[in-house]
Amino acid sequence: MDFMSKTETHHFQAEIQQLLNIVIHSLYTDKEIFVRELISNGADACEKLRFKQSAGSSIHQSDIAPGISVTTDEQAGMITIADTGLGMTHGELVENLGTIAHSGTKAFLKQLAEDKKPDVGLIGQFGVGFYSAFMVAKRVTVWSRSFEPEETGWQWTSEGMGGYELAPADELPRGTKITLELKEDAKDFSQPSTVERIIQRYSSFVPFPIELNGKRLNTVQAIWARSKNEIKEEEYNEFYTFVGHDHEKPRFRLHFNADAPLVIQALLFVPSKNFETLGMGRIESEVNLYCRKVLIQAKAKGLFPEWLRFLKGVVDSEDLPLNISRETMQDTSLLQKLNKVLTSRFLKFLDEQSEKDVETYEKFYAEYQRFLKEGIVTDFTHKEALGKLLRYESSTLEKGKLTSLADYVKRMPPEQKEIYCLLTGNRAAAEASPYFEVFRERKFEVLFLYDAWDEFVIEHLHTFDGKPLKLAEKAELDLSEAKKEGALSDEAATSLAKWLKENLGDKVGEVRVSKRLVDSPAVIVDADKFMTSSMRRMMKSMKQEAGPDMPATHDLEINPAHSLITRLEAIRQENGELATSVAEQILDNARIVAGQLEDPRAMLTRLNTLLERVLSKGA
Ligand code: ADP
Repeated sequence: MDFMSKTETHHFQAEIQQLLNIVIHSLYTDKEIFVRELISNGADACEKLRFKQSAGSSIHQSDIAPGISVTTDEQAGMITIADTGLGMTHGELVENLGTIAHSGTKAFLKQLAEDKKPDVGLIGQFGVGFYSAFMVAKRVTVWSRSFEPEETGWQWTSEGMGGYELAPADELPRGTKITLELKEDAKDFSQPSTVERIIQRYSSFVPFPIELNGKRLNTVQAIWARSKNEIKEEEYNEFYTFVGHDHEKPRFRLHFNADAPLVIQALLFVPSKNFETLGMGRIESEVNLYCRKVLIQAKAKGLFPEWLRFLKGVVDSEDLPLNISRETMQDTSLLQKLNKVLTSRFLKFLDEQSEKDVETYEKFYAEYQRFLKEGIVTDFTHKEALGKLLRYESSTLEKGKLTSLADYVKRMPPEQKEIYCLLTGNRAAAEASPYFEVFRERKFEVLFLYDAWDEFVIEHLHTFDGKPLKLAEKAELDLSEAKKEGALSDEAATSLAKWLKENLGDKVGEVRVSKRLVDSPAVIVDADKFMTSSMRRMMKSMKQEAGPDMPATHDLEINPAHSLITRLEAIRQENGELATSVAEQILDNARIVAGQLEDPRAMLTRLNTLLERVLSKGA
């Protein structure tokens, strides 16, 4: 038969021609995506064939299994992508590869035409992925044979400009074969190693076998799309190694599906080690975004909040709209919705794990607590859920044991209204702290916070389960007991306080009689109710660079039952000079406990003088 005489010449629809003009003449950096687009078309065709098969349709060459094969010919500068899917009839070729049926395309065209650096990577999302072939090919030939038994094959050829030709083609196997004669500057795509890398990157999880020059490539399955109870532990781990580039087993794994408000399939992992503290610098989220198993964006930005950047894995959503572009993707309400659903689900998962397996959770916490705290401080949305995940040592638990805020609240006696927290360096310092004394006496539990970030965490969290979080140094608690034996009378104590203020002058704000001290002679308390000693330290270090010293901003509280205080009262009349020196030392000691004595030189000179005096007396 003379095929040439049967060759038909067709024009592209105006929009397609416009699209092709842009695609052919612009310099795109991510040209390689044409491989993804053509393979994903092939996979769709295989999927549709499977559907026809299961619906009982009669299929041409039904013994040929659906699959995709890619072949390269370096010498000829060609690449061919073939599938054994459902193929196209003459009518379908005209309809599908010459006109645009998709509504999002116009918007895409507009965007492509306007952008200085158009984002062609999303071409497939707009239902025009096929045309990306013309970014790299000077001529594209498509051979297609429909699955319908009575059909015949057709050959479609185009150079992009001016239309395409259609001619009958006999003896074709079922499916579609697309050959690209590559442009001079795109010959690299006829190199097997280049093509292999691209297929691995974008198409590793395509659910049909992909062969490159006869070698099977995609052996790791898209297990996120399978049902959980069919998947073996080793399969999960193998998958994690593949997507996480980490040879250790993950600490946690969350595999879930959701149908509302969005269709989501997600498989997320927490690496056992925190790569950020391993000195690798700020890590980047490694959660890849897929749409029906084809990669849309690797390390998708905005899919999770920044403070969950340690997550690795896959999110697959069918709900990604057609008119999404990489720049605007971060702003879309869809992405925000995805972000909220995924984050809430992950935090709920952590909460469940913390109950189910305390030991594993605490290992996770040890590695990742800073990320959770970062979340509390920077992200209002998930504050409550994050608060539940915090763990601290506490005065009623032995060293090394951690409690949640929820368990702390359960243990609170009815008369206790606040959650008490003590910021401190370590367990021993906490238990020796004068700020802890009143709690020990009143038998109120105190959380010991050893991480410098905790101060901001407490401040931002503010309450938990309706109970205010209170720093121990700010707590207004009194020892309700009767006066201790040997303590100064109220009158004597008040008069000593007055004398102290007169003698210490500007070094201190107010001097008061304390109701919270048991073993310590004195303590300093910040005069500003909302300022804590560590915040003060920080401000001071900033101020020092900028200007003169700040005025004293702390008050001194004295313990009227402590023998140092009672003796001071006893000698201050007869030996004012010694008494003043001791008073100054008491203040400095209290500052040391609060971590507020920066320059100890004056204090040491005074202390040495005092010691000399003690020794000369004893002699
Ligand atoms: P999309 O695939 O997003 O619909 P394309 O421009 O890539 O957009 O393809 C247009 C249409 O051409 C497809 O919807 C499909 O019907 C048809 N098509 C493309 N490639 C193939 C193929 N390999 N086998 C069968 N049909 C195909």
